[in-house]
Amino acid sequence: MLTGEPLALDLVNTRAHTPEGDVDHLETADGLAAWLSRQAERLTARPGDVTGEWVEAARRLRAHVEAALTSPGEPPAAAVAAINEAARRAPAHLALGPTGVVTRRDAPPLDRLLAELAEAAITLLGSPDVSKIKACEAPGCRMLFLPARPRRRWCSPDLCGNRVRVARHYQRTRQR
Ligand SMILES: [Zn+2]
Repeated sequence: MLTGEPLALDLVNTRAHTPEGDVDHLETADGLAAWLSRQAERLTARPGDVTGEWVEAARRLRAHVEAALTSPGEPPAAAVAAINEAARRAPAHLALGPTGVVTRRDAPPLDRLLAELAEAAITLLGSPDVSKIKACEAPGCRMLFLPARPRRRWCSPDLCGNRVRVARHYQRTRQR
């Protein structure tokens, strides 16, 4: 499971298209819970709360985020409306907590999760970074990433970068 990109890209990448095949990491409640554990620093949802309803809702929002991020030109109106609607489900407000300023959302846990994911998508879609998003160049891989360096070509240097280098080496040695 590829994580560590902006949250909205991590969400889209849970539907993984890699040279090893297609995997949907959000297919089951366990899968979503595992993804939430890996995102514990960025999302407030407790993996133990996940139900089938969460899986359905997360996958629906993911489809809209993917459409908004990957369609050429303006994001589709239906995707924009769905993302904005998800953000409205749990508006954030600042509060003073025991250790300083905290962001709170007075809403049920699923609404909080959808709002946090939607806000991540809105922030990315509204930033100049959106034009820098790339898809991995390895054959058969369509994972998305936001390159910190313009020359980055692979979703993961260890997986795809290495795979392409090995394939090239194999081709060279065969041509001799
Ligand atoms: Zn890749």
